[in-house]
Amino acid sequence: MEIVYYTGRGLPPYLSQHNLSSLQLCLGHFYESRNLFKSISLQEYTGNTHSNIFLMIKDTMSKGNPIQGGVKHSEITVSIPKNTKITIQEYMSFAQDTKTQYVLSFAEEAVIQSGYKRAQRSAKNAVLALDECLNYPISGKLLGNVQGGDDIEARVLCLKEMIKRNIDGVWFGGFYADDHGVANRDIVEAVSEYLIDYKKIIGLSGPGRPLDIVFAASKGFTHFETFWPFKLAGEGKALSINFENYSLEEDNIIDREYQEVTIDLNNTDFRFQKGPLVPGCKCMTCTHHHAGYIYHLLTVQEMTAHTLLAIHNIEIFENLKKFISDLKDQNKLDQAFSTFVRNFCTSPAEY
Ligand SMILES: [Zn+2]
Repeated sequence: MEIVYYTGRGLPPYLSQHNLSSLQLCLGHFYESRNLFKSISLQEYTGNTHSNIFLMIKDTMSKGNPIQGGVKHSEITVSIPKNTKITIQEYMSFAQDTKTQYVLSFAEEAVIQSGYKRAQRSAKNAVLALDECLNYPISGKLLGNVQGGDDIEARVLCLKEMIKRNIDGVWFGGFYADDHGVANRDIVEAVSEYLIDYKKIIGLSGPGRPLDIVFAASKGFTHFETFWPFKLAGEGKALSINFENYSLEEDNIIDREYQEVTIDLNNTDFRFQKGPLVPGCKCMTCTHHHAGYIYHLLTVQEMTAHTLLAIHNIEIFENLKKFISDLKDQNKLDQAFSTFVRNFCTSPAEY
């Protein structure tokens, strides 16, 4: 299992090299510098030599962007850099030059609630575009970009076509920052029966809340994009989860309207609070700083607050990986979601 950390604009203050095992970059961030990559890989250029870098065409954090205007399956107009037309051949040659470890196939992404026609079209065009991508050699792993918005029939048709192809895995795109996790989980549930015997990479795009990740992992998904640690950090919030203590829960959770437990460091209750953000947390923030200090940094609008919160939130995500792999080793992955909800979430009434 791998979590790919999406950092918003590629190089924000939240990055902390020792915490990042994977990094996701949008083509738009580096396309203008593309000539550089004839002689240097993106790993070297960004100094992330131990990271897996994931290349995709769109920017998860900005809905509808950078893709704009009419899109044919083999050509797309992106807004970063300004209204640049990029063909599949150019995209794949950029992927080869930058030598990113994962490359998401070219597609027009239909976001959730984009309508039936757009969803159907995006699914059909994604398959055509993948076939064209397969004509170009790359050193990284090529993943089929499964489209179809929230139209389950379109998603399944797209997936069924893609898993016939000689690719390294599939990736479910089209989820954005403000999408509610329930739509995301409905699609994961619906497609999972077609993936039971698929032993390659099965990826899910953002927002990558812990709830989404646990649910999809319990359905066989292996790779996840997330920007949730950074989003929460930007709001002054820390995930309050300690994976060292939990009890297994066997009941199926039907009501899905739960929230992971977080604490809001903007709250004046933290002004004089000594001790870590979460007792027992081994992250650099919790072992070196007091919660009251984070409150202070937020109050004076000091950027370090977000960096320290991101370091803590990433630690929780790294522990989440262990929580899932431990349950997998015990053959109890089917209890992961219920266990996570019962131990680490609040219902809306309590939230
Ligand atoms: Zn911590």
